[in-house]
Amino acid sequence: SLASKLQATFQKLRGKGKLTEDDVKQAMREVRIALLEADVNLKVVKEFVEKVRERAVGSEVLQSLTPGQQVIKIVNDELTALMGGTQSRLAQAAKPPTVVLMVGLQGAGKTTTTGKLGLQLVKMQKRPLLVACDVYRPAAIKQLQVLGEQLKIPVFAMGDQVRPVEIAKAAIEHARVHGNDYVLVDTAGRLHIDDQLMQELKDLDEALHPSETLLVVDAMTGQDAVNVAESFHQQLQITGLILTKLDGDTRGGAALSVRSVTGCPIKYVGMGEKLDALEPFHPDRMASRILGMGDVLTLIEKAQQSIDEKKAAEMEKKFRRAEFTLDDFLDQLGQVRNLGPLDQILGMLPGMGKMKQQLSGVEVSDKQISRVEAIIRSMTSKERQEPKVIDASRKRRIAKGSGTTVQEVNRLLKQFEDMQKMMKQFSGMAKKMGKKGKKG
Ligand code: GDP
Ligand code: MG
Repeated sequence: SLASKLQATFQKLRGKGKLTEDDVKQAMREVRIALLEADVNLKVVKEFVEKVRERAVGSEVLQSLTPGQQVIKIVNDELTALMGGTQSRLAQAAKPPTVVLMVGLQGAGKTTTTGKLGLQLVKMQKRPLLVACDVYRPAAIKQLQVLGEQLKIPVFAMGDQVRPVEIAKAAIEHARVHGNDYVLVDTAGRLHIDDQLMQELKDLDEALHPSETLLVVDAMTGQDAVNVAESFHQQLQITGLILTKLDGDTRGGAALSVRSVTGCPIKYVGMGEKLDALEPFHPDRMASRILGMGDVLTLIEKAQQSIDEKKAAEMEKKFRRAEFTLDDFLDQLGQVRNLGPLDQILGMLPGMGKMKQQLSGVEVSDKQISRVEAIIRSMTSKERQEPKVIDASRKRRIAKGSGTTVQEVNRLLKQFEDMQKMMKQFSGMAKKMGKKGKKG
């Protein structure tokens, strides 16, 4: 994957005391190939590599004591900038309701995402109304109604014999009367962009003056998604993008290029079929996910939704200060089980990307997590706070007590150590960025 290739490149840089221009050139060649293999737009790759190279051969980097780290930081910065820099939030109309038009090709995920976005808004104490304007696909109206029922969000529909513009206008009126502050309009798609589809969307746009026209694109289609976004944007004023099926996109080309090619911000990403699998898009977090530094902040946000807030705040502090102990780890493993698919969660923990690779092919199962829990439970409180004290005889005792092997104990300790190192880097980086007045 892109992450593992970039990490391999940076691993080489990290090992070096000083970097020469040739080292940087070689690394940039590798980054370039990795990005192209990830199906990132060629022009985007060229510009990106050039920017990083220029900054990386500067004296500030070559003469620094940790040049490898500096290069990683530059790549991290530039990846973040490439994806838009800062988070782009959903607009809110000065006078409610805020109208959001959902557009895109058939199968991109418009209807599902309309429901998911509704759920996000409900969690933010808003009162959305979903509107069924796909009058062409036979079961489309029903699909939205079923979603609405599942989510307990009202759905406005007028059957398939009324023009979409009329349905949407009536829906906005309905929202005014019933106090719905967001109106999410699900529209029809086509297999390909055609004039009829565009005309209908333009009509809707003119009649509704939406605060947002969100283009839903399937990330799994890579550069096709970027091309689709470009042509939609040429004909319609798109205010933001939603990339769906990022969970199934192993390459990442669309996520990395689409912002830069279209100039439209990515507002949300779809991470699965489940209705809560929609996340606000944070360019900085995505960049660190790609670089394998884990996505601690998203993890913490997820945790905040299902764990009590005080605990999550404590956890964040510990992450930032790199004071995370095995006790915290144990505590977290228990909670992690409630957060979602284990694979996805592990990918968000710093250092765990590597653990996943080591287990490559092997599914990270609840059973394995149980073994890790058993190992930590067999440690004394001192051992959990200060794993340094765990010598050979303690390891044998822990293995015996947990019904595991000394190798497994060693592996866990090594992984925990790696994780702590990652956290130190992460918090160091966050501090540096903080000093520059940027948000980390
Ligand atoms: P529409 O034609 O644009 O309205 O697309 P739908 O909303 O009907 O979605 C098409 C398919 O994509 C459905 O099977 C969805 O469950 C699936 N889908 C949508 N978003 C995601 C996502 O983020 N991840 C995954 N894995 N599937 C998704
Ligand atoms: Mg649909």
